[in-house]
This record gives sequence, C-alpha cells and structure tokens, in this order.
Amino acid sequence: MHPDLEKLIVLQQLDVEAKRLREEIAARPKRIAELAAKAKAASAHKATVLDRIAKEETLRRQQELDVRDHQAKIARVRRQMEMATTTAQVAAFEHEIAFEQAEVSRLEDAELESMERSETLENQKAAAEDAVEDSAKTLERERQRADEADARDQAALAEADAKRSALRPEIGETALANYDRIAKGKGTALAEAVNQKCTACQMMLRPQRWNDLRNRDNDEEMMACESCGRLLYYDPARDAPQRKTVQSESIAASIVRSL
Ligand SMILES: [Zn+2]
Repeated sequence: MHPDLEKLIVLQQLDVEAKRLREEIAARPKRIAELAAKAKAASAHKATVLDRIAKEETLRRQQELDVRDHQAKIARVRRQMEMATTTAQVAAFEHEIAFEQAEVSRLEDAELESMERSETLENQKAAAEDAVEDSAKTLERERQRADEADARDQAALAEADAKRSALRPEIGETALANYDRIAKGKGTALAEAVNQKCTACQMMLRPQRWNDLRNRDNDEEMMACESCGRLLYYDPARDAPQRKTVQSESIAASIVRSL
C-alpha cells in the first residue's frame, strides 16, 4: 500500500468523525427548540382548558340567577292570578306562567349540559396538567443531556481536529491535494475495495485492477475507482473469506493509536 494512503485512511476516519460530531452538535439546539415549543403548546392548551372551565362556571351562575328571576315571576303572577276576576285574565296569567315554566326548564337543561361540558373539561384539565408537567420535565432533562453531550462532543472534536492537524503535514502534498479535492466533491475521498467491489459506489472492479490493487509490490501508485473516482485501498485482513475471523487490528487503528 502507498504510504500516504495509510495516512489518508486515518485522515478520512478523523474527517468523518469530526463531521459527525459537528452535525450532532449542530442538531441539538433544534431538538431542544422543538421540545421547548411542545412545552409551550402544552401550557397554552392548559390555559385554554382553564379558561373554558371558568366560562362554563360563569355561564351556570348566570343561568341560576335567571332561573330564580323566572321563579320569582311565576310566584308574582300566581299572586296576581288569585285576584283575577275574569276567565280571560286567568287564561292570560296561566299562559304567562306556562311560558315562564318553559323558560325555567330550558335553563335547567342548559345548566345540565354545561355541567356535562365541565366534567369533560375537568378530565381535559387533568390531562393538560400532566402534559405540562411531562413536557417541562422532558425539556429540562434533555437540556441537561444536551449540555453534557455537547461537552463530550466538543472534547472529542478538539481531539480529532488536533490529530488531523498533526497528521496532514505528514502526507505528501499531491496526495493530500487529491484527497481534499475528491472529499470536497464526494464527501469522502477514499473507499475500501472488498470482494472486488468499491464499497462506496458498489461497482465491481475489473479483474486486472483488482489484482493490481491487491498486489503488495504495487506501492507507488494510488488507484481510483473508475466509477466514482474515489481512491481505493485494500486491507487483506478485512477481505473475505478471513473477514469474520480478523484478530489483528486494522492498519488504520494502529496509526490512530500512534498519533
Ligand atoms: Zn466507487
């Protein structure tokens, strides 16, 4: 294997790791903001339920006052009816009493309906209070977790960046420029070839190239995948059929350790 290629493999691992850490750090505030929005929505829902409960109570107080008014009127009309002198007057008073009684029935029915709505709202209130409490707890817990994870990731990122800075000057200028150019376009510049395939784009290598790649004497030249353009490397310890019984650590791991 070309000596620069070994270092590039490590560089790519560090680059991929640094990118992953940066993405995780960047994604956290968004997740926290989502949880904060949920907590806010839960509070708003609870306020709406409490407001509706208060409105039902106000409505029922008014209905009770109205019922009392109508009942007082019925009593008044009854007293007037006792002093009525004609059948027509009695009929008019009876008509008025019937009207007032119908109003009382209507108001009492409406009051019952309001009580049923209140009962439903009381259930909603309990659920809304639970939701407020849960969402606040979740937010607080996730904020704390995010702070801890950020601190961990920032430390890991600083370490990866330091390793990258130490490694890059040790790589040949041309190889490094090539790496940077391909990585910029493709996200990754290197791909391992396993079972005669580029593991990045899954295209088969032509048999001659596969043989060249595996030839240990061929250390001068870096080979690129003819399909995706990434630089190919081959790790005999990782290729089939020994793949499942690999004991020795990979070349890459040993370089990382030595940094
Ligand atoms: Zn490829």
